[in-house]
This record gives sequence, C-alpha cells and structure tokens, in this order.
Amino acid sequence: MDVELLVIGNEILIGKTLDSNSNWMAKRITRYGHQLRRISTVGDDLNVISSTLQEILKRNPDLIITSGGLGPTFDDMTLEGIAIGLKRKLELNEHAFSSIKKVYKHAYERGILKLEGMTKERKKMAFLPQGSTPLPNTVGTAPGVKIREKSTTIFILPGVPAEMKSIFRNIINPILKEKKGKFVEKGFLFSGIGESQIAPYTSELENKYPQLWIKTHPKIGLSVLVEVSITAFNVENGEELIDKALSEIKEIILNLKGEIKERN
Ligand code: ATP
Repeated sequence: MDVELLVIGNEILIGKTLDSNSNWMAKRITRYGHQLRRISTVGDDLNVISSTLQEILKRNPDLIITSGGLGPTFDDMTLEGIAIGLKRKLELNEHAFSSIKKVYKHAYERGILKLEGMTKERKKMAFLPQGSTPLPNTVGTAPGVKIREKSTTIFILPGVPAEMKSIFRNIINPILKEKKGKFVEKGFLFSGIGESQIAPYTSELENKYPQLWIKTHPKIGLSVLVEVSITAFNVENGEELIDKALSEIKEIILNLKGEIKERN
C-alpha cells in the first residue's frame, strides 16, 4: 500500500516537541512492506490542515494517517480541518460522545479529575466529520477516527505518543499485516574511501539492479565511515538480488583499498 502521514501541531514547528510519532509509524509501515511516500508536517491552522489533506488526496494514497490535534482545547483543530478538506460537516457522534463521557466519569469517580460531566470542551472531541467511525482510545480520552474518502482510508490519531501507539497497534497494525508486502534491507559499513569515490560504482549497480535502491550514508567525516544500504520493496527474489549486489560492492571497495566493517 502507498501511505502518507500528516503530522499536526505548532509544538513541532517551533521545535518544542520532536516528532517521534512519524518515525515510529514509518518503521512499522515499512516493516510490513508498505511504502511511506511522504510525511507532511503542519501547524494548528484550519486552512493549512484542510488544503494539505486535499493535496495528499490528489496523490491517491491507500492510507493517510494523521497525528495530533484531537484534544479539547481551541487549538486542537484537526477534526474541523479534515472535515473542511473533505467538504463534510462535523456532527456529534453518539459512540464517541458516550465513550468520552465514560472516561471523564471514571476519572472523576477515582478522584483523578475534579470536574464532573461533559463540558463544551469535552463534547468538542465527539464532533467528527460525517461518515466517521470512532476508534477506541484505551489509554486516553479523544477517540481516534477512521474515514473513507473514495479509495483512500484516513486514520486520525491523537498526538500523545502512548495514545497514538495504542490505536495504531490495535487498528492499523492488523491492516498493515493483512495487506503485507515484502521489504528487505541489508547493508554494511566501510571506511578508507569516501562516498564520492564509490558513487560511480553504485550508479552502475543501480542500472544493473533497477529493482533495488542502493544508497550510501556518510556516518563520520569524508571517508571515515560510510554505510551502504540496499532496500527492495515487493521484489520477488529481493534478498537474493541484494546479496548479489552487496558482494559486488564489497569487491569494488576492497579493490579501491577500502576496509569493510560489518554493521551491528
Ligand atoms: P489528546 O487527544 O490526547 O488530547 P492531541 O491529539 O490533542 O492529544 P496534541 O495536543 O497534538 O495531541 O499533543 C499532545 C502532546 O503529545 C504534545 O504536547 C506532545 O508532547 C505530544 N506529541 C504531539 N505530537 C507529537 C509527535 N508528532 N511526536 C511526538 N510527540 C508528540
């Protein structure tokens, strides 16, 4: 599947919060052989959220996952932004309403919160774009949301990492597993010769193995440590091809008097 992430929050844009959510999701999406095509990060701004969603939809991904901005405060505007982007109305979702009510009731009864009942701010979290399915949030308050738009499924998840991860594991992981593709990544480290010196050889190998993505990543300095990494997405004999390409690169590096260090 083709996947895009839409990360929402001013805190990320001002550098207060490091966006670890998208990195966490990216690893899982890739692990199950799906392709994360793009990560867009935007602030808490209705126009920007809605227009970015529309841009993403034009690229027709199978899945869009958003993170952040589902809370009760005025600057949590993800649901409204998504509704505008989809040209749908926000409507009170009874399931979401009763689950949010239950969470606050429990918190009040256990003395965690002093304020009882559904306030305007709490009720706000239950207004979902028309056609939404709420997704249970077992570790927080605001439910996640699932919406279909033509051939794209949109999952709207909270920003709090524990809440995002819990809904992702319960709802999205099974879908990623069911539609699983094949992803293989292998590589090694070398030193003694620089990225630029190896570049013409890796280009040649790219032409020889067009199904593979062959990449060098400098780790320290000009030639102190470079990583070669080869990835194959949904290639039938991906592992075999990667092994062949890796042994060819190793030979080239040794011929150039470089030193090979295995990766751990
Ligand atoms: P809730 O629905 O539980 O109220 P929310 O969806 O409103 O959450 P935000 O208000 O966007 O979530 O973020 C809440 C907190 O979660 C932030 O203060 C930050 O600590 C953390 N957070 C938000 N987005 C991210 C992210 N992309 N990566 C890591 N942490 C994040």
